[in-house]
Amino acid sequence: MIVVMKRGATKEQIEHMIRRVAELGLKPHPIYGTERTVIAAIGEKRDEHRASLESGPGVAEVVPILAPYKVASREVKPEPTVVRAGSLAVGNCHLGMIAGPCAVESEEQMMATARAVKKAGAFKPRTSPYSFQGLKEVGLKILAAAREETGLAVVTEVLSETDVSLVAAYADVLQIGARNMQNYRLLEAVGHEGKPVLLKRAPSATLDELLLAAEYVLNAGNPHVMLCERGIRTFETHTRYTLPLASVPWLHERTHLPVIVDPSHGTGHAHLVARMAAAAVAAGADGLIVEVHPSPETALSDGYQSLTFLEFEELMELCARVAEAVGRKIAPAETAAARLPAAV
Ligand code: PEP
Ligand code: MN
Repeated sequence: MIVVMKRGATKEQIEHMIRRVAELGLKPHPIYGTERTVIAAIGEKRDEHRASLESGPGVAEVVPILAPYKVASREVKPEPTVVRAGSLAVGNCHLGMIAGPCAVESEEQMMATARAVKKAGAFKPRTSPYSFQGLKEVGLKILAAAREETGLAVVTEVLSETDVSLVAAYADVLQIGARNMQNYRLLEAVGHEGKPVLLKRAPSATLDELLLAAEYVLNAGNPHVMLCERGIRTFETHTRYTLPLASVPWLHERTHLPVIVDPSHGTGHAHLVARMAAAAVAAGADGLIVEVHPSPETALSDGYQSLTFLEFEELMELCARVAEAVGRKIAPAETAAARLPAAV
């Protein structure tokens, strides 16, 4: 349930109610909005404490949260969350661009891509499990060097909870890959770590399951969560996955968390990426994550869905025009994030 504080409730009253919620054996999640503060009270047996909480000082009302996901729900926080990580801002009026190769193949390949996507707007590399395991900290150091030179934030995948603190020491955003979406120990670990998290939808997960997965991170105390629609498994084989863009407005109606779209994995074909990226912007996406490679033809992974530097610039131009048409603006290069791959 949600303890809604009155407008103008004092800091002492809010702190008192946070303590009260905890005393009743519930987990308090205060959310300080621009209008008023609410305290989500999460746990079993919450209904029996409703009357007692309602009579607390500075309390306007206590209402149940109907959605199965609690902290992620718009019922708890009506205003959109903006996630910031270094040069990246995503959510509300910020449309963040994350771009880069699927995997780091060499320092040259990665640095060239970082420079190219910075010109166009942003940078993403991905850590492949092989590359990360191969290079370990060396790969992460290359990513940090790319950030140093380009000023772009680094988004990279963390594969298991034992790697969280090492990856967090170098990356600005911890990506949870689609296949790990329901790895609850990993979700809790990135939740405790506190760095921004990019949570990718599993190909066979429902949107409710995605939101419940996000809830693990939020409930561990980390409010900086971005959701990512990256395509789902259907009977259709013309595209690698099916990219359901209705997820974007659907999620926006139910959660305050920003929604990023991945048109690269979502289609699996480079020639489809720019138009689906533009469609995602039109659908209200808060950001895009796109694979770019200096030579897609010779890329060691996902070359068929990677854009050349020129194609990426064209994508940026198309998306900027669509963004303008729907009253939005792509964040300029200085505020874009880099997602760097770990080297293979
Ligand atoms: C990636 O973004 O590099 C990736 C592996 O994507 P996914 O986890 O969505 O398959
Ligand atoms: Mn990939």
